[in-house]
Amino acid sequence: MKLRTKLWLLLVLSAAMSMVLFGYTSVWIGKIANKGYALFQLNPLAQSIVDSIEEQSPLGRDSLKLTLDLAHEEHPDIRLIWMDDQGQSIYDTAGLNPTYTFKDLARMMQNMPERYLTEDDVHILTQATSGEQSYFLLLSIPSSAMKQGEVYFLVRTHKSLLTLVVPLVLSFSIPFLLALWIFSRINKRIRKLNKALNQLNIQGDSPVIKLEDKSKDELGQLTQHYNSMALRIRSQFAEIQQFENNRNLLLSNLSHDLRTPLTTMLGCAEIIRTGNYKDETELQSRAKIILQRCRYMDKLLDQMLDISRQDADSLSLQLVNHNLSEIIRKIAVEYIMVLDGDQVVLDVDLPNEDIANAIDAPLMERALRNLLDNAIRYGKDGRYLGIRLSADEQSVNITVMDKGKGIPPEHQAHIFERFYRVDRGRTGEGLGIGLSIVKDIVEAHQGSIEMSSTPNVETVFRIKLPC
Ligand code: ADP
Repeated sequence: MKLRTKLWLLLVLSAAMSMVLFGYTSVWIGKIANKGYALFQLNPLAQSIVDSIEEQSPLGRDSLKLTLDLAHEEHPDIRLIWMDDQGQSIYDTAGLNPTYTFKDLARMMQNMPERYLTEDDVHILTQATSGEQSYFLLLSIPSSAMKQGEVYFLVRTHKSLLTLVVPLVLSFSIPFLLALWIFSRINKRIRKLNKALNQLNIQGDSPVIKLEDKSKDELGQLTQHYNSMALRIRSQFAEIQQFENNRNLLLSNLSHDLRTPLTTMLGCAEIIRTGNYKDETELQSRAKIILQRCRYMDKLLDQMLDISRQDADSLSLQLVNHNLSEIIRKIAVEYIMVLDGDQVVLDVDLPNEDIANAIDAPLMERALRNLLDNAIRYGKDGRYLGIRLSADEQSVNITVMDKGKGIPPEHQAHIFERFYRVDRGRTGEGLGIGLSIVKDIVEAHQGSIEMSSTPNVETVFRIKLPC
């Protein structure tokens, strides 16, 4: 059942129930707390006494006295006077037997029914006929014997009933109408939220529907939560999609990057096995190719391992004081051999005094090798490779520099992102994770890395480590 239908049912039911409750409780409480005669009971009472007297034919004084005394016994507060049509009393239960003129009777009947609310007596005059003769029965009731909170006399006619019921219904309906108004506003807001949730499209390019609800109540808060949730879902979905794309790219690049050197290695190994080479120089160069490809594949596998380490967030450091100058010297010697015959100037700039710092040596070496490999792979055209080490009071700085094609400005902001490669179309040039690993290693050392590049002039990576 819809909320709106529920509310309508609730309103109709509660209105009916409260009316019934009002009727019953007022009668019930009236009976308990408001004892006495009600005005509307008196006329039927007088009429019933008159009827029983009229039935007596002929009307004898004894039987009249008996009837009136019995009625008085039953209603001790009521005085009954039986009189003829001249106002002369024939029998008075109070024993006073007064004579009334027309004026007396008219005064008694004046200002009814308000009269009984005052201190005066209430009088009911009923005509009776016996034989050819007319009589009157006068009932006198002290106002103290009447119901004090008498409201029923007001509702004795339909018209007066209307005057009571209409204001009553109106005053009853105000809370219902207010509740209805508030509910329909709440309902409208819920429907809006419902519709927005229904139409929430986590994929697609269409902008996320942002709901406007400035109120600070629970629904307003829910709307704000919806807005932020919709945006979060969108961005998380985009991230998942990006991750999925990266994963696919990684797999295709990896299979390509592993297959290409393997083919070359197989070819070279086959030439060496069959002895199908010209001289010792060719043999050496084939062996060097196999070695290079092996190193490349080894590096790829290392990077794969690093990715899974990054995923597990487990880059734990073993910080030991190491001589950084020595480490850089060792690496530089390795690269002299790698660059052998490539006509690249290797410029190693170390301070006169050795610099030592607390580092995780294997990790820091891997970071430096990644930077140097990149400088050779992407910046060989500049024929320059520079490594510089310096230190001041707060930090140790390591700089790797080349003068190759560099990184175009529009790519520079993303260069440390995982899987980011400037030339995404080209395979066989890495997986786009080297620099993200370097950044992770440096940051694990509480250091920072920054890059500046002017294509074909200078590309510099600066690592800053705290002393
Ligand atoms: P990859 O494994 O592809 O080399 P990296 O994270 O090491 O991944 O490098 C990301 C991208 O940054 C590379 O694809 C390359 O385009 C660019 N890059 C990195 N270093 C240099 C550099 N010294 N000169 C020019 N481009 C570079």
